Amino acid sequence: MSETLPEAGRCLCGGVRYALRALPEAVFLCHCRTCQQAQGAAFNLSAPVPREAFVLLAGEGLLVRYESSPGKDRVFCRCCGSPVYAERPDTPVRVLRAALLHDLRALPVQAQLHEGEALVAVPDAQFLQGPIVQGEPHE
Ligand SMILES: [Zn+2]
Ligand SMILES: [Zn+2]
Repeated sequence: MSETLPEAGRCLCGGVRYALRALPEAVFLCHCRTCQQAQGAAFNLSAPVPREAFVLLAGEGLLVRYESSPGKDRVFCRCCGSPVYAERPDTPVRVLRAALLHDLRALPVQAQLHEGEALVAVPDAQFLQGPIVQGEPHE
């Protein structure tokens, strides 16, 4: 039963919640211009998992799909705008937006992509640290 899996991540409003049958093995920092615009941030934290490892616990009706380039969909919460994952539906991979995960478990940074488009240099990124502290809401 998927309901017995612990929640692994959620969007900002909490309407979209998911569990994972397998944790991502690595994360990528993507500095491409499309990711910058999609995240509204200097770079994107991408964590690929097999699609069957992703178990949506809540929020199916909130997920909106935007095809940012041919065959590639970026999926976000229509209530709060959090980017949740991206995928090419013809592949078996779902690429999580890793900052939504509650526990990053010192995910190794496997690569930085499109550094030529970087807004900020991140020279020594080796691991993402977890767990993320769940504290006071920030702006
Ligand atoms: Zn949301
Ligand atoms: Zn990118």
